Amino acid sequence: MKFTNLTRQTEIGANSYYLEIGRNRLLLDCGMHPKNTGEDALPNFKTIADRDIEAVLMSHAHQDHIGTLPLAIRRFPGARVFMTEPTAEVGSVLLHNSVNVMTRQREEIGELSYPLFTHREIDRASERWRKCPTRQRISIAGERAAQREKDTLTFEFFDAGHVLGSTGILLRGEGHTVFYTGDVNFDDQTIMQAAGFPDERIDVLIMECTRGDHAKPQGWSRHGEEQRLAEALSAALERDACVLIPVFALGKTQEILAMLYQFRRQRLLPEFPIYIGGLSSKFTDIYDRRTHSTRRQLPRLKLMREVAPFILNDETVRDTPLRGGRVYLLSSGMMIPKTLSNVFARRIIENPQHSIFFVGYANPESPAGLLREAGQGGEVALDPDKPSQPVRCDIEQFQFSAHATRESLVDFAKKISPKEILLVHGDPRAVEWMRATLSNELSGSEVIVPTPGVELEV
Ligand SMILES: [Zn+2]
Ligand SMILES: [Zn+2]
Repeated sequence: MKFTNLTRQTEIGANSYYLEIGRNRLLLDCGMHPKNTGEDALPNFKTIADRDIEAVLMSHAHQDHIGTLPLAIRRFPGARVFMTEPTAEVGSVLLHNSVNVMTRQREEIGELSYPLFTHREIDRASERWRKCPTRQRISIAGERAAQREKDTLTFEFFDAGHVLGSTGILLRGEGHTVFYTGDVNFDDQTIMQAAGFPDERIDVLIMECTRGDHAKPQGWSRHGEEQRLAEALSAALERDACVLIPVFALGKTQEILAMLYQFRRQRLLPEFPIYIGGLSSKFTDIYDRRTHSTRRQLPRLKLMREVAPFILNDETVRDTPLRGGRVYLLSSGMMIPKTLSNVFARRIIENPQHSIFFVGYANPESPAGLLREAGQGGEVALDPDKPSQPVRCDIEQFQFSAHATRESLVDFAKKISPKEILLVHGDPRAVEWMRATLSNELSGSEVIVPTPGVELEV
């Protein structure tokens, strides 16, 4: 088997992996870098330019996993594309939104290659996406495969517990098994249920490492963290603050909306207006429409009806009056310049009355990472085109990651005891902690950090 990590660095960037099993050539995910632009935002497709890709398997519809799928299809027009039905639904909305964002960026940052693809291209390509259920063996040709067909390469999706539609992917072929975790969570969130991954022995494990540099804090529990958030919100609302919570439009928005719904039901918080962005509202609609067809908690909760958030857009986020006692769940989670969370943060950051609460992962070099690092009393430039600002508002951090703790990743690896473990999707320090720990604790496994762009024989 051959494997190439197509990200440009050891990082959570434009995630995409090339896999060759026997004569089958595949891609796992085709992401776009959440922070970089232009060529730097794309996977390194050039390293596999001469290969004929047969199939593209998508783990989930976050930008860093699906954002360049139309480009991959342009390069490899014969490739079949497989994903779950919710991933297809969310993915199509996300890619159309991405065309709009790139069209705007063409003006704003002068990136003349943007938009990298068109609405029509997405529509045409998405008609050919094959939607697959979880827990079903499917041949790489797209047919339901019988268990005894030993020679055909098959894949099977398993619930990854990360966001709506997310999966890990098990490949079986030539007597070997390969499992790609995608982005995974082994714990329950408010809506998402913990991953249901295979527990059979696996030969090669390709594993994400997002939280590899964060130890689970002593005494941390999700319930305790929810209480802490409810108390912090209560204090801020009492102070008549605007509370900004930067969130990913897909996943974290719906999780926090569900949490706020529960806080109100438990009478931990009074009624107060909640705002989300337009893209987030589209994803929330999809969560609501799929309450009965997905494995989840709170199966009767329709967020748009019960929580009834107001919707902000690119214009209103700039000029909506700053009225206190409101919560703004705005994307992007990393506060990328010109996004709703970035624009809104710049409006409230200098006023000690207001609050910004962080609830998930942010690249340390992203504006959210920089603001977190600066903290109250520091200074930060959230947008390189604008002057830097003193941070006077209240800044607090909460841990509601949609990713597995490093401890649970290690436990999973131990359970399936692979011959080889390939570590991906992590900042260098995170990947290094995972490498050192796994090498130490799994004497029977070879642990590898694949150098980006370099083909590996496993
Ligand atoms: Zn993700
Ligand atoms: Zn990811």
